Formats: sequence, structure tokens, C-alpha cells
Amino acid sequence: MKSNFGAEEKERYSRQMIFHEMGQAGQMKLARSRVMILGCGGLGSASASILARAGIGYLKLVDRDFLELNNLQRQILYEEHDVKEGLPKAIAAQRRIEQINSTILVEPVVDDVNRFNIEKLISDIDLVIDAADNFETRFLLNEACVKHKRPWIYGAAIESYGLAMTIIPDKTACLRCIMDHIPQPGSMSTCESVGVLASIVLIIASIQCAEAIKILTGNHHEINPHLISIDVWQNSYQTIDVSKEHVPKNCPVCNQHRFDFLEGKAGSAFTTLCGRNAVQILPFKATHVDLPKLAIDLSAMGVVKVNEYLIRFEIEGYELSIFPDGRTIVKGTTDTGIARSLYSKYVGN
Ligand SMILES: [Zn+2]
Repeated sequence: MKSNFGAEEKERYSRQMIFHEMGQAGQMKLARSRVMILGCGGLGSASASILARAGIGYLKLVDRDFLELNNLQRQILYEEHDVKEGLPKAIAAQRRIEQINSTILVEPVVDDVNRFNIEKLISDIDLVIDAADNFETRFLLNEACVKHKRPWIYGAAIESYGLAMTIIPDKTACLRCIMDHIPQPGSMSTCESVGVLASIVLIIASIQCAEAIKILTGNHHEINPHLISIDVWQNSYQTIDVSKEHVPKNCPVCNQHRFDFLEGKAGSAFTTLCGRNAVQILPFKATHVDLPKLAIDLSAMGVVKVNEYLIRFEIEGYELSIFPDGRTIVKGTTDTGIARSLYSKYVGN
């Protein structure tokens, strides 16, 4: 690891380094930092761009999904040609980030985040930016981060409002401290049902990145101790005090060290995807699908498109996207029974 920046790095980061709380020492800390961004949609796109430009040395970009035209309105890393190529978001994001800052290391992970892989995913990073699209994943992330003492920054945006909160295990409240359980399926608005403005997405991501940079540079005294709520349409900015003394002391996660989602006592293998009219199916056991062979088999029954990352198969008015580990997204329904049936019929198991 270098102990000093060269002339090019000094120039690249000059406006950030002269910021009084940063300096060369702070910039060096960022260069040695490793951040995971969980989700490469709206929040993840913006966070990846900001943190890459800020000079975070290593970014792990994790996303299970592929690009669609309706992503371009708010997911600022992507362009029309990425959609035409049908790329996974993590791959398209990596390509763009490497154009923005070729001096950092970017690792894309095209995968669902679940209880089987989350602890390994966070094992070699310093901090996680939450850019997930559902609360089950956030509850799982919360448990993994509390268990392994990784800070993470909660973020969410829908319609014209958004939320952000910084969670540092042993120091602040955790997500479970302020939220007793996952909202019931169908009880929450989705991006599909009520929409989302790009403005609020970028504001929330910006707050998350500012918090991340404070933590990574050791400026802990400046960390925001509140749950922040912002609405760009109603012109409101609210803060709720969630410091430890203002939340219950019997949190199942950070007080009792119960990790129900990590241990499979909660959570499901079938996930209805936010705003996608789609269901994701996760095999109970990890598997390996021979994509070229399956593509040949399926082409006898319906329209098949294949690239090195996935098969896309249109059948019966639905579209199945099948990944090498057996994970499948069934588009055209939110009914897990229909999804399960299509999966067993065309993918197997
Ligand atoms: Zn807690």
C-alpha cells in the first residue's frame, strides 16, 4: 500500500482534499477503504458513482437484476445501449465505474443476497451501503452487520420521499431497534404502484455517501444520529432521534443476538420483486445450471435469448430469466405459485 499520493491523484482529489475535515490523511483512508453497495438500482447507481469519484479504493457492487428501459429515469450509471445489451446491472455498473475512476478496484457480484452468502459478502469490507429494494434483505443485512460489526447505511426512496439512517453496531440503534417486523407483503407501496422521483433517490444516496465518508475517515463525531426523512414534493425535512437511549432496550438483534433471518428461522426463498411484476425463486441449495444446454432445450418450446450471464426465456406470456446458480426471475406475475410452477416445469427441481 502506498503511503503517498502521486501528482495525478493529488489533482484528481484536490477539491476533496482541501476540504478541512479531509486532507491527505483522510483521502489516504478512503483509498484503503472497502465498501459494498448492496443493490445497483437508483440508490446504488448514485452511491457507486459518488464513492468511486471520491476515491474509495475498493467497491463491491452486488445486484441480482438485469437492466430495463424504465431504469434509466433514475439509475444514473446506465445508458440506452446497456439496456439493449440486456446486461446485469452489476456488470453495466462496473463498466461505467471503471470509466469514471480507473485507479480503484471494482468487483461486480451478479447474485441475490441471501442468508447463504451475506456473511461471506461482508467479510472483506469495511462498510455497506444499503441500496436494496425490499425489507427482507435489509433485515438480513442488519443481522449480518450487527453480528460481524460492520457499519451500514440504511436508505430507501419512493414517490417523492426517502429515509436514511446510519447504523454502527454497538454504538447506534440497529434497524430492528426501530422496526419490529417486516411489513406484510402487499402492505407497502412499490415503485411500480406509486412511482419514484430521481431527485429523492439522489438526495438519499448523497446522504448515505456523506455518512460513509465520515465513518471511513474516522470523523465519528459528525455522524448523523437521526433517522432522516425527506420529501422533495412536500418540502419537508424531519429527523427522529434514534440514539440508543430513545429506542427499546430489548432488541432481538443487537441486545439479544438472535439472528432469525441469518439462521433461516425467518425469510423465504420466493421473493416478489419491488415494482417488477415478478417473482424471484432461489433454490434451497446452491446448484449449477448448464446454461448453453438449457438454452438449447428451451428453444424447442419458446423464444430464448442467451448471454454469458443468463438465459431469457419467453413462454406462456411470462418471461423467465435463469442464472447459472439456478436463481430465476419469473416476470409477468406476482403469484409465487405460478412462478413455482413455471420454474419446476422449465428449469427443474
Ligand atoms: Zn437493535
